[in-house]
Amino acid sequence: MHVLILGGTSEARRLAELLAADARPGLRVTNSLAGRVAAPRMPPGEVRVGGFGGSDGLAAWLGGHEVDALIDATHPFAGTMSLHAAKAAASARVPLLALRRPGWTPVAGDSWHEAGSLAEAAELLPSLGRRVFLTTGRMGLAAFTALDDLWFLVRSVDAPGVPAPSRTEVLLDRGPFTLDGERELLRRHRIDVVVTKDSGGAATAPKLTAAREAGLPVVVVRRPPGPTGVPVVTTPEEARDWVREAAALAPGPVPAERQSE
Ligand code: NAP
Repeated sequence: MHVLILGGTSEARRLAELLAADARPGLRVTNSLAGRVAAPRMPPGEVRVGGFGGSDGLAAWLGGHEVDALIDATHPFAGTMSLHAAKAAASARVPLLALRRPGWTPVAGDSWHEAGSLAEAAELLPSLGRRVFLTTGRMGLAAFTALDDLWFLVRSVDAPGVPAPSRTEVLLDRGPFTLDGERELLRRHRIDVVVTKDSGGAATAPKLTAAREAGLPVVVVRRPPGPTGVPVVTTPEEARDWVREAAALAPGPVPAERQSE
């Protein structure tokens, strides 16, 4: 049985680890990364890097590599890849599961301002603060370039290219982050507003707690809608169980005594 995991998240990596630990004979796992990060954390199993060439390209890859099950474990904001996965799985008739961590929900004391997009987040910012902690990733910085009056602390895994806001300090780092670290960051840079995607998960959640404690507003960019009709689980363990069930239904290897028949 050949499983393709569309990855780029800690959940995708964890799922690959769980499947490797299963050590099920005949189970082949391929991890797919987009290639955005210069030095990604590598999952166990085979790894391929780069786009497939749209949903048709992915469908062809599924057929050409005899994939039996597809797991879309991409980031909740990788909306295009998720749509392509749904289309390709339907046309190649490959079972598809989405592994998507739940979004965050505000608690008492939070001052959240929802935005439908990065552009909407940029529109909100001048009314909320002057010193911005921008954690939405380097790919979407263009949405903030017109905000010359604001100062930005941009945290990203790799250095952002241009365009970026004119008054930007870059902090290269990747999660998980600690609450103490986030408190210190907000204090040291005199941050008065935070911008985040609703990525969910524990690794990057401490900034929300630190902002709440400091009484800071947080602009939270809503997730893009996922494809409809795709079963969703929220943990790598559930996805591993789905693979186990699919593997139990799949035809097993031909016993040695029957191979000569
Ligand atoms: P996207 O906008 O949904 O996808 C754009 C294109 O990138 C896709 O059409 C596909 O190219 C390629 N692609 C995306 N994920 C891929 C994968 N796992 N394997 C092979 N090709 C992939 O994606 P994105 O938001 O740029 O995210 C890219 C990667 O970064 C994903 O793996 C995602 O899990 C990870 N990531 C994203 C975010 C975020 O905020 N968006 C945050 C953390 C991690 P083709 O059409 O040529 O197949």
